[in-house]
Amino acid sequence: MKCPKCGKEIADESVFCGFCGARVNGEEGNPETQTNDSPEDNASCLLVGISFLFPIVGIIVYAINTKEKPNKAKSCLKAALWGFGIGLAMNLIVAFAA
Ligand SMILES: [Zn+2]
Repeated sequence: MKCPKCGKEIADESVFCGFCGARVNGEEGNPETQTNDSPEDNASCLLVGISFLFPIVGIIVYAINTKEKPNKAKSCLKAALWGFGIGLAMNLIVAFAA
């Protein structure tokens, strides 16, 4: 058979290609192509809601999760920024109205 990587002719029972070292038999699928989307990385509505109401919590969640759960971290940060912006706007409106 031929090596799928380098195309050289190798023995049918080979597990690794003797020319390029690629694995040619055995495990199906490529572990490197596995997605990074773990269910835990999904933004939970609760966390986003809390981040919106209490921006400081969102920023803390972002800081804690930014490496391991980047999607979750980003949505919390966004919610926190929105919450912070809207809170600031409300304060300004109240300040000017008073
Ligand atoms: Zn090869």
